[in-house]
Amino acid sequence: MNKTVIDNVGEYLKSNEIKPSFQRIRIFEYLLNSKEHPKVDDIYRSLISEIPTLSKTTVYNTLNLFMEKGIVHLVTIEGTENRYDVNVEDHGHFKCEVCGRVYDFELLELVLETDLPEGFVVKKKDLFFRGICEECYQKMN
Ligand SMILES: [Zn+2]
Ligand SMILES: [Zn+2]
Repeated sequence: MNKTVIDNVGEYLKSNEIKPSFQRIRIFEYLLNSKEHPKVDDIYRSLISEIPTLSKTTVYNTLNLFMEKGIVHLVTIEGTENRYDVNVEDHGHFKCEVCGRVYDFELLELVLETDLPEGFVVKKKDLFFRGICEECYQKMN
């Protein structure tokens, strides 16, 4: 699902068989608006002032539910980091070594070609680049 097409989060959750509780809606909205592929901690820290009853377990369980329904993907960039992504289309990730942000980029057909032997079923394509983002590059020069 493309980020720009989701204009009503409650309806979107319902259409994916998820009961749209306030907490679930806010967690999904946070993921939708964040361009940095947040971790559980990031989501928790950003929403706790608005939702004092929120717990890390709730955030974690909600993300698991979203993943079960296929509307959120886990981004596995480095083994120690669990980041979450509402962009479930195949796309690449670019991690900036300076600010640590993780950006999305579109995959062109060229990089989707593989030499996997026949009979292999590809379910998801991950492509991970690292480097320096434009913002950090500008600051350095
Ligand atoms: Zn950067
Ligand atoms: Zn992404």
